[in-house]
Amino acid sequence: MKKISSRLDSIKPSATLAFTQKAADLKSQGLDIVAFSAGEPDFETPLHIVNAAKKALDDGLTRYTPVTGTIALKTAVAQSSSDCRKVPCDTKQVIIGVGAKHVLYNYFMAVLDEGDEVIIPSPYWVSYPDQVCLAGGTPVFVETRPEDNWTLTAEQLEKAVTPKTKVVLINSPSNPTGGVAPKAILEKLVDKALELDLLIISDEIYRDIIYDGVEFHSPLTLAKEKKENVFVVDGVSKTFAMTGWRIGWGIGDPAIISAMGKIQGQSTSNATSIAQAASVIAVTKSMDFLDDWNSQYVERRDIMIERLNAMDGVTCRTPQGAFYVFPNVEPLVKKLGKDKNDVDLATWLLEEALVATVPGTPFGAPGYLRLSYATSKELINKGLDRIEEALKKL
Ligand code: PMP
Ligand code: GLU
Repeated sequence: MKKISSRLDSIKPSATLAFTQKAADLKSQGLDIVAFSAGEPDFETPLHIVNAAKKALDDGLTRYTPVTGTIALKTAVAQSSSDCRKVPCDTKQVIIGVGAKHVLYNYFMAVLDEGDEVIIPSPYWVSYPDQVCLAGGTPVFVETRPEDNWTLTAEQLEKAVTPKTKVVLINSPSNPTGGVAPKAILEKLVDKALELDLLIISDEIYRDIIYDGVEFHSPLTLAKEKKENVFVVDGVSKTFAMTGWRIGWGIGDPAIISAMGKIQGQSTSNATSIAQAASVIAVTKSMDFLDDWNSQYVERRDIMIERLNAMDGVTCRTPQGAFYVFPNVEPLVKKLGKDKNDVDLATWLLEEALVATVPGTPFGAPGYLRLSYATSKELINKGLDRIEEALKKL
Protein backbone atom coordinates (compact mmCIF):
# COMPACT_ATOMS: atom_id res chain seq x y z
CA MET A 1 0.00 0.00 0.00
CA LYS A 2 1.25 3.47 -0.87
CA LYS A 3 0.72 5.27 2.41
CA ILE A 4 1.43 8.79 1.26
CA SER A 5 -0.89 10.58 -1.16
CA SER A 6 0.34 11.07 -4.72
CA ARG A 7 -0.52 14.73 -4.22
CA LEU A 8 2.82 15.01 -2.43
CA ASP A 9 4.89 13.20 -5.07
CA SER A 10 6.20 16.37 -6.67
CA ILE A 11 6.25 18.52 -3.51
CA LYS A 12 9.65 19.49 -2.11
CA PRO A 13 10.31 20.42 1.52
CA SER A 14 10.88 24.17 2.00
CA ALA A 15 14.57 24.71 1.17
CA THR A 16 14.84 27.91 3.22
CA LEU A 17 13.56 26.14 6.31
CA ALA A 18 15.76 23.11 5.55
CA PHE A 19 18.99 25.15 5.27
CA THR A 20 18.09 27.22 8.34
CA GLN A 21 17.47 24.00 10.28
CA LYS A 22 20.74 22.48 9.06
CA ALA A 23 22.66 25.48 10.41
CA ALA A 24 20.77 25.30 13.73
CA ASP A 25 21.47 21.55 14.05
CA LEU A 26 25.20 22.04 13.46
CA LYS A 27 25.21 24.87 16.03
CA SER A 28 23.53 22.64 18.59
CA GLN A 29 26.26 20.05 17.98
CA GLY A 30 28.71 22.69 19.19
CA LEU A 31 29.97 23.94 15.80
CA ASP A 32 30.51 27.69 15.58
CA ILE A 33 28.34 28.30 12.51
CA VAL A 34 27.75 31.79 11.11
CA ALA A 35 24.24 31.64 9.68
CA PHE A 36 23.29 33.83 6.74
CA SER A 37 20.49 31.41 5.92
CA ALA A 38 17.56 32.48 8.09
CA GLY A 39 14.89 34.66 6.54
CA GLU A 40 13.90 36.46 9.71
CA PRO A 41 14.82 39.67 11.51
CA ASP A 42 17.31 39.26 14.38
CA PHE A 43 15.66 42.08 16.36
CA GLU A 44 13.39 41.42 19.34
CA THR A 45 9.65 41.99 18.92
CA PRO A 46 9.08 45.55 20.27
CA LEU A 47 8.18 45.57 23.98
CA HIS A 48 4.80 47.30 23.61
CA ILE A 49 3.68 44.40 21.38
CA VAL A 50 4.97 41.76 23.80
CA ASN A 51 3.16 43.57 26.62
CA ALA A 52 -0.07 43.55 24.59
CA ALA A 53 0.17 39.75 24.38
CA LYS A 54 0.65 39.53 28.15
CA LYS A 55 -2.36 41.78 28.67
CA ALA A 56 -4.42 39.62 26.30
CA LEU A 57 -3.68 36.62 28.51
CA ASP A 58 -4.53 38.57 31.65
CA ASP A 59 -7.76 39.74 30.03
CA GLY A 60 -8.70 36.14 29.28
CA LEU A 61 -8.57 36.39 25.48
CA THR A 62 -7.98 32.68 25.29
CA ARG A 63 -11.04 31.51 23.36
CA TYR A 64 -11.81 30.89 19.70
CA THR A 65 -12.17 34.08 17.71
CA PRO A 66 -14.16 34.40 14.47
CA VAL A 67 -12.57 32.06 11.89
CA THR A 68 -11.35 34.88 9.63
CA GLY A 69 -9.97 36.99 12.50
CA THR A 70 -11.15 39.37 15.21
CA ILE A 71 -13.03 42.49 14.18
CA ALA A 72 -10.38 44.52 16.06
CA LEU A 73 -7.52 43.14 13.96
CA LYS A 74 -9.45 43.25 10.69
CA THR A 75 -10.39 46.87 11.39
CA ALA A 76 -6.77 47.74 12.18
CA VAL A 77 -5.53 46.03 9.01
CA ALA A 78 -8.24 47.63 6.85
CA GLN A 79 -7.38 51.09 8.22
CA SER A 80 -3.64 50.70 7.82
CA SER A 81 -4.02 49.32 4.29
CA SER A 82 -6.35 52.20 3.31
CA ASP A 83 -3.73 54.64 4.63
CA CYS A 84 -0.67 53.11 3.04
CA ARG A 85 -2.09 51.83 -0.26
CA LYS A 86 -4.46 54.77 -0.71
CA VAL A 87 -7.29 52.44 -1.63
CA PRO A 88 -10.29 52.30 0.72
CA CYS A 89 -10.54 48.91 2.40
CA ASP A 90 -13.17 47.54 4.75
CA THR A 91 -13.22 44.52 7.00
CA LYS A 92 -15.14 42.36 4.48
CA GLN A 93 -12.03 42.53 2.33
CA VAL A 94 -9.70 41.23 5.07
CA ILE A 95 -8.85 37.73 6.27
CA ILE A 96 -6.41 36.95 9.09
CA GLY A 97 -4.43 33.73 8.73
CA VAL A 98 -1.64 31.79 10.42
CA GLY A 99 1.15 33.79 8.79
CA ALA A 100 1.41 35.10 5.23
CA LYS A 101 2.43 31.61 4.09
CA HIS A 102 -0.96 30.25 5.18
CA VAL A 103 -2.79 33.10 3.49
CA LEU A 104 -0.94 32.46 0.21
CA TYR A 105 -1.78 28.77 0.42
CA ASN A 106 -5.46 29.36 1.11
CA TYR A 107 -5.62 31.87 -1.74
CA PHE A 108 -4.30 29.30 -4.23
CA MET A 109 -6.68 26.70 -2.78
CA ALA A 110 -9.58 29.13 -3.15
CA VAL A 111 -8.99 30.32 -6.73
CA LEU A 112 -7.26 27.50 -8.64
CA ASP A 113 -8.90 24.70 -10.57
CA GLU A 114 -6.92 21.67 -11.73
CA GLY A 115 -4.45 22.77 -14.42
CA ASP A 116 -4.89 26.53 -13.99
CA GLU A 117 -1.60 28.27 -14.63
CA VAL A 118 0.05 30.70 -12.24
CA ILE A 119 2.83 32.87 -13.65
CA ILE A 120 5.69 33.05 -11.16
CA PRO A 121 8.56 35.41 -12.00
CA SER A 122 11.91 33.84 -11.17
CA PRO A 123 13.91 34.06 -8.97
CA TYR A 124 11.00 33.35 -6.62
CA TRP A 125 10.42 32.53 -2.98
CA VAL A 126 10.67 28.76 -2.54
CA SER A 127 7.13 28.08 -1.35
CA TYR A 128 5.16 29.57 -4.27
CA PRO A 129 5.52 26.72 -6.81
CA ASP A 130 4.84 23.96 -4.30
CA GLN A 131 1.78 25.75 -2.93
CA VAL A 132 0.43 26.16 -6.46
CA CYS A 133 1.00 22.44 -7.14
CA LEU A 134 -0.68 21.43 -3.87
CA ALA A 135 -3.72 23.41 -4.97
CA GLY A 136 -3.78 21.58 -8.32
CA GLY A 137 -2.38 24.48 -10.34
CA THR A 138 0.61 24.59 -12.67
CA PRO A 139 3.42 27.04 -11.98
CA VAL A 140 4.78 28.76 -15.09
CA PHE A 141 8.16 30.38 -14.53
CA VAL A 142 9.32 33.47 -16.34
CA GLU A 143 12.92 34.55 -15.85
CA THR A 144 13.30 38.22 -14.93
CA ARG A 145 16.31 40.46 -15.58
CA PRO A 146 18.55 41.79 -12.83
CA GLU A 147 18.63 45.17 -14.61
CA ASP A 148 14.83 45.43 -14.19
CA ASN A 149 15.37 44.86 -10.44
CA TRP A 150 14.16 41.35 -11.27
CA THR A 151 10.68 42.64 -12.12
CA LEU A 152 8.45 40.84 -14.61
CA THR A 153 7.66 43.12 -17.56
CA ALA A 154 4.33 43.48 -19.36
CA GLU A 155 5.95 42.10 -22.54
CA GLN A 156 7.24 39.02 -20.70
CA LEU A 157 3.80 38.48 -19.18
CA GLU A 158 2.07 38.74 -22.54
CA LYS A 159 4.41 36.13 -24.04
CA ALA A 160 3.86 33.69 -21.16
CA VAL A 161 0.07 33.90 -21.04
CA THR A 162 -1.98 30.96 -22.33
CA PRO A 163 -5.74 30.32 -22.22
CA LYS A 164 -5.08 28.49 -18.93
CA THR A 165 -3.37 31.40 -17.16
CA LYS A 166 -5.38 32.56 -14.18
CA VAL A 167 -3.01 34.32 -11.78
CA VAL A 168 0.21 36.31 -11.95
CA LEU A 169 2.30 36.60 -8.81
CA ILE A 170 4.23 39.72 -7.81
CA ASN A 171 6.63 39.90 -4.85
CA SER A 172 8.23 43.28 -4.26
CA PRO A 173 10.47 43.79 -2.31
CA SER A 174 11.51 40.31 -3.31
CA ASN A 175 12.76 37.29 -1.46
CA PRO A 176 15.42 36.18 -2.53
CA THR A 177 16.74 39.12 -4.60
CA GLY A 178 15.80 42.10 -2.42
CA GLY A 179 14.75 43.80 -5.67
CA VAL A 180 12.08 46.50 -5.48
CA ALA A 181 9.88 46.74 -8.58
CA PRO A 182 10.37 50.12 -10.31
CA LYS A 183 7.06 51.97 -10.61
CA ALA A 184 7.21 52.34 -14.39
CA ILE A 185 7.67 48.60 -15.01
CA LEU A 186 5.16 47.58 -12.35
CA GLU A 187 2.46 49.93 -13.59
CA LYS A 188 2.64 48.51 -17.12
CA LEU A 189 2.67 44.98 -15.76
CA VAL A 190 -0.46 45.63 -13.69
CA ASP A 191 -2.21 47.31 -16.67
CA LYS A 192 -1.40 44.33 -18.88
CA ALA A 193 -2.45 41.71 -16.32
CA LEU A 194 -5.80 43.41 -15.78
CA GLU A 195 -6.32 43.98 -19.51
CA LEU A 196 -5.83 40.20 -19.89
CA ASP A 197 -8.37 39.72 -17.07
CA LEU A 198 -5.89 37.86 -14.84
CA LEU A 199 -5.88 37.79 -11.08
CA ILE A 200 -2.84 39.39 -9.41
CA ILE A 201 -1.51 38.16 -6.10
CA SER A 202 0.91 40.65 -4.55
CA ASP A 203 3.09 39.37 -1.71
CA GLU A 204 3.97 42.57 0.17
CA ILE A 205 5.44 41.02 3.31
CA TYR A 206 8.68 43.11 2.93
CA ARG A 207 6.80 46.36 2.16
CA ASP A 208 8.24 48.28 5.12
CA ILE A 209 11.81 47.06 4.73
CA ILE A 210 12.98 49.34 1.99
CA TYR A 211 16.00 51.64 1.68
CA ASP A 212 17.81 54.47 -0.10
CA GLY A 213 14.65 56.59 -0.33
CA VAL A 214 13.09 54.13 -2.77
CA GLU A 215 9.30 54.11 -2.66
CA PHE A 216 7.12 51.06 -2.33
CA HIS A 217 4.33 50.70 -4.88
CA SER A 218 1.49 48.25 -4.45
CA PRO A 219 -0.21 46.77 -7.53
CA LEU A 220 -3.46 47.55 -5.67
CA THR A 221 -2.66 51.27 -5.73
CA LEU A 222 -1.45 51.18 -9.34
CA ALA A 223 -4.46 49.28 -10.71
CA LYS A 224 -6.61 51.77 -12.65
CA GLU A 225 -9.52 49.36 -13.00
CA LYS A 226 -10.60 45.94 -11.69
CA LYS A 227 -8.97 46.50 -8.30
CA GLU A 228 -11.00 43.51 -7.11
CA ASN A 229 -8.67 41.31 -9.20
CA VAL A 230 -5.72 42.29 -6.99
CA PHE A 231 -5.12 40.34 -3.80
CA VAL A 232 -2.56 41.64 -1.29
CA VAL A 233 -0.71 39.41 1.19
CA ASP A 234 1.01 40.97 4.19
CA GLY A 235 1.63 40.27 7.89
CA VAL A 236 3.57 41.04 11.03
CA SER A 237 6.51 38.61 10.60
CA LYS A 238 9.11 40.82 8.95
CA THR A 239 8.07 44.41 9.74
CA PHE A 240 7.62 43.80 13.47
CA ALA A 241 10.08 40.91 13.94
CA MET A 242 7.21 38.56 14.80
CA THR A 243 7.98 35.46 12.71
CA GLY A 244 7.04 33.06 15.51
CA TRP A 245 3.69 34.70 16.26
CA ARG A 246 2.16 33.46 12.99
CA ILE A 247 -0.12 36.27 11.95
CA GLY A 248 -0.59 37.24 8.31
CA TRP A 249 -3.46 38.65 6.30
CA GLY A 250 -4.98 38.88 2.89
CA ILE A 251 -6.79 41.86 1.42
CA GLY A 252 -9.00 41.44 -1.61
CA ASP A 253 -12.33 40.63 -3.22
CA PRO A 254 -14.89 39.68 -0.51
CA ALA A 255 -15.91 36.66 -2.64
CA ILE A 256 -12.34 35.29 -2.47
CA ILE A 257 -12.07 36.22 1.22
CA SER A 258 -15.26 34.31 1.92
CA ALA A 259 -14.02 31.23 -0.02
CA MET A 260 -10.78 31.35 1.97
CA GLY A 261 -12.85 31.63 5.16
CA LYS A 262 -14.61 28.40 4.20
CA ILE A 263 -11.21 26.66 3.89
CA GLN A 264 -10.03 28.07 7.22
CA GLY A 265 -13.30 27.05 8.88
CA GLN A 266 -12.66 23.44 7.86
CA SER A 267 -8.93 23.41 8.61
CA THR A 268 -7.18 25.76 11.03
CA SER A 269 -10.08 27.88 12.37
CA ASN A 270 -8.80 31.21 13.68
CA ALA A 271 -5.17 32.26 14.11
CA THR A 272 -4.08 32.40 17.77
CA SER A 273 -6.27 34.78 19.78
CA ILE A 274 -3.36 36.21 21.80
CA ALA A 275 -1.20 36.84 18.75
CA GLN A 276 -4.14 38.55 17.05
CA ALA A 277 -4.63 40.88 20.05
CA ALA A 278 -0.93 41.78 20.08
CA SER A 279 -1.01 42.36 16.31
CA VAL A 280 -3.72 45.01 16.75
CA ILE A 281 -1.22 46.97 18.84
CA ALA A 282 1.55 46.30 16.30
CA VAL A 283 -0.51 47.66 13.43
CA THR A 284 -2.10 50.64 15.19
CA LYS A 285 0.75 52.02 17.33
CA SER A 286 3.82 53.98 16.28
CA MET A 287 6.31 52.20 14.05
CA ASP A 288 9.17 54.53 15.07
CA PHE A 289 11.50 51.59 15.76
CA LEU A 290 11.56 50.82 12.02
CA ASP A 291 13.78 53.78 11.07
CA ASP A 292 16.46 52.48 13.40
CA TRP A 293 16.09 48.87 12.21
CA ASN A 294 16.16 49.90 8.57
CA SER A 295 19.27 52.01 9.04
CA GLN A 296 20.95 49.04 10.71
CA TYR A 297 19.90 46.81 7.80
CA VAL A 298 21.41 49.29 5.34
CA GLU A 299 24.76 49.38 7.15
CA ARG A 300 24.84 45.60 7.17
CA ARG A 301 23.83 45.36 3.53
CA ASP A 302 26.58 47.76 2.51
CA ILE A 303 29.25 45.74 4.33
CA MET A 304 28.05 42.55 2.67
CA ILE A 305 27.83 44.02 -0.81
CA GLU A 306 31.24 45.67 -0.66
CA ARG A 307 33.01 42.62 0.70
CA LEU A 308 31.25 40.13 -1.59
CA ASN A 309 32.03 42.18 -4.68
CA ALA A 310 35.69 42.33 -3.62
CA MET A 311 35.86 38.51 -3.85
CA ASP A 312 37.00 36.94 -7.11
CA GLY A 313 34.13 35.14 -8.82
CA VAL A 314 31.34 36.95 -6.93
CA THR A 315 29.10 39.64 -8.45
CA CYS A 316 26.38 41.20 -6.37
CA ARG A 317 23.86 43.94 -7.11
CA THR A 318 22.77 46.33 -4.38
CA PRO A 319 19.16 45.48 -3.52
CA GLN A 320 16.89 48.13 -2.05
CA GLY A 321 14.53 46.06 0.02
CA ALA A 322 14.06 43.01 2.26
CA PHE A 323 17.23 41.75 4.00
CA TYR A 324 18.84 39.50 1.43
CA VAL A 325 21.69 39.82 -1.04
CA PHE A 326 21.71 37.50 -4.01
CA PRO A 327 25.21 37.25 -5.51
CA ASN A 328 26.01 35.45 -8.73
CA VAL A 329 28.69 32.89 -7.93
CA GLU A 330 28.89 30.93 -11.20
CA PRO A 331 32.70 31.26 -11.46
CA LEU A 332 33.04 29.74 -7.97
CA VAL A 333 30.75 26.84 -8.87
CA LYS A 334 32.97 26.16 -11.91
CA LYS A 335 36.08 26.28 -9.73
CA LEU A 336 34.55 23.81 -7.31
CA GLY A 337 34.64 21.19 -10.02
CA LYS A 338 33.04 19.70 -13.09
CA ASP A 339 29.34 18.83 -12.60
CA LYS A 340 29.17 20.91 -9.42
CA ASN A 341 26.34 23.36 -8.79
CA ASP A 342 25.31 26.08 -6.34
CA VAL A 343 23.88 23.51 -3.91
CA ASP A 344 27.33 21.87 -3.77
CA LEU A 345 28.89 25.29 -3.24
CA ALA A 346 26.55 26.10 -0.32
CA THR A 347 27.31 22.69 1.21
CA TRP A 348 31.05 23.25 0.72
CA LEU A 349 30.83 26.69 2.39
CA LEU A 350 28.98 25.19 5.31
CA GLU A 351 31.54 22.41 5.79
CA GLU A 352 34.70 24.33 4.85
CA ALA A 353 33.92 27.82 6.18
CA LEU A 354 31.18 26.99 8.70
CA VAL A 355 29.00 29.61 7.00
CA ALA A 356 25.36 28.83 6.15
CA THR A 357 23.84 30.31 2.99
CA VAL A 358 20.94 29.16 0.80
CA PRO A 359 21.72 28.07 -2.79
CA GLY A 360 19.93 29.75 -5.69
CA THR A 361 18.49 26.59 -7.28
CA PRO A 362 15.44 26.25 -4.99
CA PHE A 363 14.66 29.89 -5.80
CA GLY A 364 14.79 29.05 -9.51
CA ALA A 365 18.20 30.71 -9.95
CA PRO A 366 21.08 28.23 -10.32
CA GLY A 367 24.50 29.84 -9.97
CA TYR A 368 23.41 32.16 -7.16
CA LEU A 369 23.50 32.14 -3.36
CA ARG A 370 21.17 33.93 -0.96
CA LEU A 371 22.70 35.53 2.11
CA SER A 372 20.54 37.16 4.77
CA TYR A 373 22.01 40.21 6.49
CA ALA A 374 19.47 40.15 9.31
CA THR A 375 22.34 39.49 11.70
CA SER A 376 24.94 41.62 13.49
CA LYS A 377 27.82 43.43 11.75
CA GLU A 378 30.27 41.40 13.83
CA LEU A 379 28.81 38.14 12.54
CA ILE A 380 28.63 39.48 9.00
CA ASN A 381 32.34 40.33 9.10
CA LYS A 382 33.21 37.05 10.77
CA GLY A 383 31.28 35.05 8.15
CA LEU A 384 32.76 36.97 5.26
CA ASP A 385 36.31 36.60 6.67
CA ARG A 386 35.70 32.87 6.70
CA ILE A 387 34.33 32.78 3.16
CA GLU A 388 37.36 34.78 1.93
CA GLU A 389 39.72 32.38 3.68
CA ALA A 390 37.93 29.30 2.34
CA LEU A 391 37.88 30.61 -1.23
CA LYS A 392 41.70 30.69 -1.22
CA LYS A 393 41.54 26.90 -1.22
CA LEU A 394 39.31 26.71 -4.30
N1 PMP B 1 6.38 35.62 1.52
C1 PMP B 1 7.72 35.78 1.50
C2 PMP B 1 8.31 36.36 0.26
C3 PMP B 1 8.52 35.42 2.58
O1 PMP B 1 9.84 35.58 2.52
C4 PMP B 1 7.92 34.87 3.71
C5 PMP B 1 8.81 34.48 4.86
N2 PMP B 1 8.66 33.28 5.40
C6 PMP B 1 6.52 34.71 3.71
C7 PMP B 1 5.78 35.09 2.61
C8 PMP B 1 5.75 34.09 4.85
O2 PMP B 1 5.80 34.84 6.00
P1 PMP B 1 4.99 34.41 7.30
O3 PMP B 1 4.29 33.14 7.01
O4 PMP B 1 6.01 34.29 8.37
O5 PMP B 1 4.02 35.54 7.54
N1 GLU C 1 10.70 33.38 4.36
C1 GLU C 1 11.85 33.04 5.11
C2 GLU C 1 12.95 32.57 4.19
O1 GLU C 1 12.82 32.66 3.00
C3 GLU C 1 11.57 32.11 6.25
C4 GLU C 1 11.55 30.64 5.94
C5 GLU C 1 10.32 30.22 5.20
O2 GLU C 1 9.21 30.35 5.72
O3 GLU C 1 10.51 29.80 4.07
O4 GLU C 1 13.99 32.16 4.63
